[in-house]
Amino acid sequence: MAEAQKGESILRGIAVSGGVCRGKLVVLDRVRPKVRKQEVPASDVANEINRLERALVETRQQILDVQRKVSERMGAQEGSIFDAHLLVLEDRTLLDEVVRIIQEEKVNAEHAFHTVAERYAATLAAIEDDYLRERATDMRDVTARVLNNLLGLDAEVDLRHLKEPCIIVSHDLTPSNTAQLDRRNVLGFAIDVGSKTSHTAIMARSLRIPAIVGLKEASGKLHTGQYALLDGFNGVIIANPTDQTLFEYGELIRKHVTLQDRLRDVLDKPAVTLDGHHVFLSANIEQPADAEAVKTNGAEGVGLFRTEYLFIKSESLPTEEQQYEAYREAAAALKPMPLVIRTLDLGGDKFLAHLPGPAEINPFMGWRAIRFCLQERDIFREQLRAILRASADGNVKMMYPMISGLTELNQANELLEEYKKELRTENVPFNDALEVGAMIETPSAVMVADSLAKRLKFFSIGTNDLIQYSLAVDRMNERIAHLYEPTHPAIVRLIKATVDAAHKHKVWVSVCGEMGSDPVLAPLLVGLGVDELSASPPSVPAIKFIIRRLKLTEAKELADFALDCESAVEILGRCQELARQIAPSLFEGK
Ligand code: PEP
Ligand code: MG
Repeated sequence: MAEAQKGESILRGIAVSGGVCRGKLVVLDRVRPKVRKQEVPASDVANEINRLERALVETRQQILDVQRKVSERMGAQEGSIFDAHLLVLEDRTLLDEVVRIIQEEKVNAEHAFHTVAERYAATLAAIEDDYLRERATDMRDVTARVLNNLLGLDAEVDLRHLKEPCIIVSHDLTPSNTAQLDRRNVLGFAIDVGSKTSHTAIMARSLRIPAIVGLKEASGKLHTGQYALLDGFNGVIIANPTDQTLFEYGELIRKHVTLQDRLRDVLDKPAVTLDGHHVFLSANIEQPADAEAVKTNGAEGVGLFRTEYLFIKSESLPTEEQQYEAYREAAAALKPMPLVIRTLDLGGDKFLAHLPGPAEINPFMGWRAIRFCLQERDIFREQLRAILRASADGNVKMMYPMISGLTELNQANELLEEYKKELRTENVPFNDALEVGAMIETPSAVMVADSLAKRLKFFSIGTNDLIQYSLAVDRMNERIAHLYEPTHPAIVRLIKATVDAAHKHKVWVSVCGEMGSDPVLAPLLVGLGVDELSASPPSVPAIKFIIRRLKLTEAKELADFALDCESAVEILGRCQELARQIAPSLFEGK
């Protein structure tokens, strides 16, 4: 797309919600309520505590109002985002600390509240975890409301009365701000902070508003009234676009609309190559509600249900019953399509706020996934029982993450048998023939894949981890991101070795890492003999599109080339060449 031209300025961030829009910018100021420290006489301390209590009650009411509106407009799931805000208001540790400061230091309520809430938010913001960092945004959202109420100010940003359609630019956009907006007048969002998992990103996707986050300094560089074009596919915002840019984008939009129409055509068709080879195409989900997107995007089932989000999102460990409900709901929604539930993969970059683990120097190589579960038997037992029980009610399969050798697999399977015995004694129904698989995401698992295959029904290659462990490249570290190469000859050969070991024992092989969501790499994986690709739901139509234009013979030739080749760049080049040749429309404008 267009390079920077005179007058035009281009800012790049993280694309989180697709679509292109253009219009006037409204840049929101970073107004934070000014909080002054004031000493109060001892006789006023009780009054300050009363003011605090009243502000909390008022804030609670406001949040409940916003929650009701969001639930009505966007659905219960989006409304439930505000549960986290309500919990902040009920956090006794925080509130006791505020009251203690008012009493001991004899200061005004707003200063005491601001001090404690800021300390909490700063701690959360510093944690290397997207989910917990987002909790800092929740915290600041609630804090601003409480302070506005204490200071008798209006809400800091009012997006309810935008007079004309515009693109909102802001340092941050809290869930409350996002919830208030008048959809008819908001064309897009451009936000300085945030990640793909930030609530604003989730809401933008659900509202289908093009959005970019992580723009760093957009709110400082752009001005209200400027005309801009926002490209939510590629994460680019262009202020003062030239006629040439607008023309190019007009073309891009037309191509995108045509592509969407074409992709819609394949939704209910199978992922079969031109020479008749069926690739099982499934999707990855994180919660039962995602089952809908699996179906609307034309997937044939779920190849990976990441269960850790159930744990991360709740305030305490979900019980067997709660888990059973979630797994059963997903299985019932998908039935008769398969649902592969992965047992808990905590650790690495996924932690529970309510169950802090030990500080580790190398968390990705530490107390993670199956290692954690084999030691935390009660947690594992509840989950395995819940999965077994859900298997009575749908096409459920189960797999273990991070298996690094046979001992772990045998231990996990022994426990599974023990819990099956318990359920039999309790007369609780389950599918005795529940298919069990393992994720192949460590090089050691590939080396012993032959032994693992004798004891399992399927493998699911977790390329996200397999790449980081094989190439010794931390998947979270942006400084070495260029070394994280899915087409590295070592990765190609590891996938081939896994497929060969599996097929020798008639074991099914899926790829559920991000490599399986990339249309450019799909032909290579098919050529290497992978039976199933499990992609993020929105990527499914494009993967299906390319498979339906591919010949298995071409895919095998590509795989043979890759297995012989010594260069990751050359392998990637060949993959791109084939993909562009068979499905050029997928790549126009990118
Ligand atoms: C993987 O490692 O490829 C995978 C799918 O697991 P996760 O991304 O959840 O670690
Ligand atoms: Mg993994």
